[in-house]
Amino acid sequence: MIQANDLSKSFDQHEVLKNISLKIPAHQVVAVIGPSGSGKSTFLRCLNGLEMITGGTISVNDHLLQATDNKKLRQKTIHAIRQDTGMVFQQFNLYPHKTVIENVMEALIVVKKQSKEQARVIASQLIMRVGLQEKEEVYPSKLSGGQQQRVAIARALAMEPKIMLFDEPTSALDPELVGEVLKVMKELADEGMTMVIVTHEMKFAQDVADRILFMADGQIVEDSEPRKFFEQPSTERAQRFLAKVN
Ligand code: ADP
Ligand code: MG
Repeated sequence: MIQANDLSKSFDQHEVLKNISLKIPAHQVVAVIGPSGSGKSTFLRCLNGLEMITGGTISVNDHLLQATDNKKLRQKTIHAIRQDTGMVFQQFNLYPHKTVIENVMEALIVVKKQSKEQARVIASQLIMRVGLQEKEEVYPSKLSGGQQQRVAIARALAMEPKIMLFDEPTSALDPELVGEVLKVMKELADEGMTMVIVTHEMKFAQDVADRILFMADGQIVEDSEPRKFFEQPSTERAQRFLAKVN
């Protein structure tokens, strides 16, 4: 589903991702962990074209993006990749002047060209799926952070993505609200969604992910099964990181 070959990304002279190669098959749930500044967000953003790679290639659901692509081809590929990926950020970025259901309907109407009636039916199902059926007509400011993030997930799902990317989806939440968001994410994982999740929730990563990518200094330093990673990390870098977060 996702394949990176020698992917690199520089901002001016600063090389933030260094020759990353990996394959993520369909239905796999991958947790990306590592210290701040190691390139996790940049990696995720390269996966859906929010940042353009400066070296190598990346392929998402058979849409191949090469650092050498000209601008026109690149835009076309990124557009195709975006159709297949949903992204959820630390900040929920809901439209404040739209209700919950209108937030979820937006992409259905604008991007999927559905009628308002059609969009409302589907949006309503998605809102039910994240457990917010009572909140359809409410504005985001009336919701807790956890509820807002669940709306953001429903909104991303409206595009029927084949891959969901999460960048620290619970990091902005009060501790007591983290669980409800992780629960929705676990349900998605159980339904077979292909997911790449940058997270500091080690227990969640251990319980839900099929695979851990540990990043440091722009590289994937470890790529292993959760149990192996958490019980016997093979690098000193990962051992140090785990000692700090535990
Ligand atoms: P992480 O998500 O692991 O904390 P990031 O991917 O956000 O790491 O950042 C990795 C490095 O890239 C950091 O040194 C950061 O300062 C740099 N970086 C990220 N985005 C930009 C940008 N738009 N311009 C310049 N440098 C950036
Ligand atoms: Mg980050």
